[in-house]
Amino acid sequence: MLGPDQYMLGCVKGAAVDFVITGGRVTVPDRVLDDGWVAIAGGVIAEVGTGAPPEGRQVDVDGALVVPGFVDTHCHGGGGGSFSSGDPDELAHAVRAHRRHGTTTMLASLVSDPIHALCDQMSALKELVEDGEIAGIHLEGPFISKARCGAHDPAALLEPDTATINALLGHARGAIRMVTLAPELLGGVKAVRQLSESGVIAAIGHTDGVEEQILPAIDAGASVATHLFNGMRPLHHREPGPIGTLLDDERITVELICDLVHVHPTVLRLAARHAGHGRTVLITDAMSATDAADGSYRLGTLEVDVTEGVATLAETGSLAGSTLTMDAAFRNLVRGAKLDILDAVRATSAKPAELLGVADRTGSLRAGLAADLVVLDAELRPAKVLRQGKWVAEVGTATLRT
Ligand SMILES: [Zn+2]
Repeated sequence: MLGPDQYMLGCVKGAAVDFVITGGRVTVPDRVLDDGWVAIAGGVIAEVGTGAPPEGRQVDVDGALVVPGFVDTHCHGGGGGSFSSGDPDELAHAVRAHRRHGTTTMLASLVSDPIHALCDQMSALKELVEDGEIAGIHLEGPFISKARCGAHDPAALLEPDTATINALLGHARGAIRMVTLAPELLGGVKAVRQLSESGVIAAIGHTDGVEEQILPAIDAGASVATHLFNGMRPLHHREPGPIGTLLDDERITVELICDLVHVHPTVLRLAARHAGHGRTVLITDAMSATDAADGSYRLGTLEVDVTEGVATLAETGSLAGSTLTMDAAFRNLVRGAKLDILDAVRATSAKPAELLGVADRTGSLRAGLAADLVVLDAELRPAKVLRQGKWVAEVGTATLRT
């Protein structure tokens, strides 16, 4: 039998411990440590273990599940604020809303808009990137298929070209981490190559492409399927389309909107099991009405109605992003799709952190990484959220907004 010391996952030498979270079921990469503890020093995880905790102020979490802070790679807003707004107050509302639900690292996603408008929106977001409030920008479009544009304004869609992509990347000065595009568009595969050679994640989404059009994009460096199933040609047993091609390719990380509305629980389970914990990432694709009241909102330039938390375009009734938060996605994967807790942990933290290239800083509970974690109660709802060693205020409370 292993003694307590054998559960130690390394420690940061010489750091004075600020406090120790004790009495938790602590999720480490390959197991759950019962009666586990996490020692925090200077905003960083100093040590993780089980049994007798080290000296220091103790925060007893009374048997709660302790998971890494959530990492959301696809999110448009929340708390009444949209990342497309360019308004500093709205941006702050959006970040805070998701933080209260356990998201400690996130990309800000922008829907399709004219290039000059995207540049203005990115100017506002760049400050949040520089301040470390968000991990970067995700451009969802405008290089996507008119046939599968979902809640994107068809008037804003473009075919990709080298100069336009250079202009966007130049304006963002390294803040763009991911671009979603449809590879079947003229110049699509070339754009994938340009993005991946520039260190930007090329994601395939909002696409009507067939396998013969998707595979060259993967060969050119595309590595992500943007919300698999949603905004793409459906799966057919004689024509795998983007869904079959992306899900079956080991080079592709698969994003799933796990609100049990965008994808049926059985289909979620099917996809998450096939992609496995090495390739599955849960996202929110949340829009501004997330963690806010039902009512009328905007997604980019389009009007959206939110009824009982389901967001649809006012004009067409098409699903228009979600009102999901990462804690709910986590619960849905465990309770709705009946997947293992550790699979849900990987899909909401370690894997997306790896995708963003920040796994050496966050995404797991191990010594040396940022003290980003969520304490989940018996209902898997966040009771406490810690970001870079500081407790997040008003955890789990909703913004009431009409
Ligand atoms: Zn989106």
